[in-house]
Amino acid sequence: MIKIYDSESRAKRDFEASEFGRIKMYVCGPTVYNYVHIGNARTFISFDVVRRYLQWRGFEVIYVSNITDVDDKIIARAHEEGRMASEVAAEYTEAFIEDMRAINVLDPTIRPKATQEIPEMIQLVVALIDKGYAYEVDGDVYFSVRALPAYGGLSGRNLDDMEAGHRELRTEGIADRKRDAQDFAVWKAAKPGEPSWESPWGQGRPGWHLECTAMSKKYLGYPFDIHGGGCDLIFPHHENERAQAMAATGSDFANYWMHAGMLQVNSEKMSKSLGNFKLLRDVLKTVDPWNLRFLMLQTHYRSSLDFSEERLEEAAVAFARIKTTVRNAQWSCENASADRSVLDEGHVEDLMRGFRFNFLAAMDDDFNTSKALSAVFDYCSDVNSLLDGCALSSLDAVAAERLIGILKEIMGVLGIDMDRALESDAAGSAEEYPVELIELAREIAGFEGHDGADAADALIAARAAARAERNWAVADAVRDRMSSLGFTIEDTPQGARVSRA
Ligand SMILES: [Zn+2]
Repeated sequence: MIKIYDSESRAKRDFEASEFGRIKMYVCGPTVYNYVHIGNARTFISFDVVRRYLQWRGFEVIYVSNITDVDDKIIARAHEEGRMASEVAAEYTEAFIEDMRAINVLDPTIRPKATQEIPEMIQLVVALIDKGYAYEVDGDVYFSVRALPAYGGLSGRNLDDMEAGHRELRTEGIADRKRDAQDFAVWKAAKPGEPSWESPWGQGRPGWHLECTAMSKKYLGYPFDIHGGGCDLIFPHHENERAQAMAATGSDFANYWMHAGMLQVNSEKMSKSLGNFKLLRDVLKTVDPWNLRFLMLQTHYRSSLDFSEERLEEAAVAFARIKTTVRNAQWSCENASADRSVLDEGHVEDLMRGFRFNFLAAMDDDFNTSKALSAVFDYCSDVNSLLDGCALSSLDAVAAERLIGILKEIMGVLGIDMDRALESDAAGSAEEYPVELIELAREIAGFEGHDGADAADALIAARAAARAERNWAVADAVRDRMSSLGFTIEDTPQGARVSRA
């Protein structure tokens, strides 16, 4: 049974899909006025893992994530740059999609844009006014929080406590237009030069909270299964989305609320004023996307995550252990030629079954990726000790491929594509072969090519030939001089293997 921590009930609850075999999920997307930062990336990776896991568990997942392409921040940026708001929004929407694909976040099933859904939003406002939950003031429409007893139920806030904090504002006259200081804008009258739409209250545009209420209603219907976002959205954004939905339709809104924890940089809150604000695309200029994703998975999604050079380094080292397991096992399979089988089919099955069980147990417990990775590491060491020093037969190779197959499958559920991660490693290291290695291969092995990997192969072949002739001086020279360049030669039952420090 999958358990999900539900922010609204503040407890882990058994998960039950509202429809058999199908899960409807909504995750608040970006407001497209800038590139996304790594805190946003963390949230989107968290929900990408939730979605991938639910799909792997056999559910069909309808994943809706919006683009907020009309908003104060977009308008402000457009004014600063002397551009149309729609131009700014289009540019950063495209950049956002590119950035998400770069960290292997799946495209949503549906990615609605707020500006394309205005009629649905107006309908909701009309319903809110008709039912007495909203009122108009000079083209603005406000939601009346006092009219809905359920208001505050998500964030656990009490209106009277909130009121106390706003008393000062009211005496200064700032909140005069609203009946209650806590009331929030559902629809905003347009100021000159702003994007606007025709409405029963004149030219205007939707409030941010209304957008998600309308898009989730249209594409999922109420109540849907899971609503997700960063924990900074609980109040006021999610509280207000929920209030509008419940008031306009009388229905529940979302059955489970999931919120991802914040990301800190070097144990400090990320902020422009501290100068530690990190955009995802800047980070990806120097950091391998798989290592970044791995770092995010090491912390449970609800905990706050500390991002630092040190943590990145640790993540890279840890992830390298998994890559080494896959690479070694693949090498053993490719070089399988022994006559006698050494692997016990039953033992292989047990290992795989145990791994699958531990992974499921971790992920069923509120998507605990950190525990899931422990299961991955345990499995890797089991596979390593099983295959270490073995000469595999072709029958063994089939079993070993299955061992690696399930490892790749499960890393894939976490959004890490092992084949692509290994490829990007190989591409990175091919450029790093030192010229000295090629020179050494020319000198000792009569090598005439220019490729580092080929030079290493030529040297290994020369060493094997020297050993066959019992010419130990040459064989040792190859090993010693390669080792001084950072290459280790390991003799295995299947022949010599080169690895790099
Ligand atoms: Zn939202």
